[in-house]
Amino acid sequence: MLNIVLFGPPGAGKGTQSERLIAKYDLVHLSTGDIFRSNIKGETDLGKLAKSYMDQGQLVPDSVTIDMLRSEVLKHENTNGFIFDGFPRTNAQAEALDAFLDSLNTSITLMVALEVEENELKTRLMKRAEVSGRADDANPEVIANRIAVYNNETAPVKSFYQNQNKFVAIDGIGSIDDITLRIFSAIDPHL
Ligand code: AMP
Repeated sequence: MLNIVLFGPPGAGKGTQSERLIAKYDLVHLSTGDIFRSNIKGETDLGKLAKSYMDQGQLVPDSVTIDMLRSEVLKHENTNGFIFDGFPRTNAQAEALDAFLDSLNTSITLMVALEVEENELKTRLMKRAEVSGRADDANPEVIANRIAVYNNETAPVKSFYQNQNKFVAIDGIGSIDDITLRIFSAIDPHL
């Protein structure tokens, strides 16, 4: 299986690049943010809980997020692999993911981290708000919170994969096509 963690701060282009990776490598895309948003839309209990955190730009608690991710993975028995987009966002999530994949006799192949500097992220998110309809993109305070949470809680997850020699950083500035090609050349040697 090919299991990719697509990593990066909010606005780095994870969603956009995921679409291209799914098409090329025939993978299942699991975006925890998308799954939470569809639960919010469906007004489920999980959605109500997640919304209270997402509206503030805070992380949904690990236990809730990990349980949800596990059950999503189990829905796709016969896949070539997964793109984990927006997960893991804490070391506890990364550890839980490793243990869970191990129990399924598979593992993470590579973490691909998109790197984009902070001012560019803020500009992209405000622009995205015009089309995404996402409340958490439209409010500068919430954006600042999300970036701070990324720096404090999520960026350390890089070391988790660096320690396993499964980390590659990709320059996330440039045309979408150029960035896609950079990602392909990082993944292709692992096929
Ligand atoms: P995203 O679509 O990846 O930008 O995620 C939007 C929001 O969903 C985040 O700001 C968090 O509130 C929540 N979220 C998404 N993924 C996770 C995760 N792995 N752990 C905790 N919260 C998450």
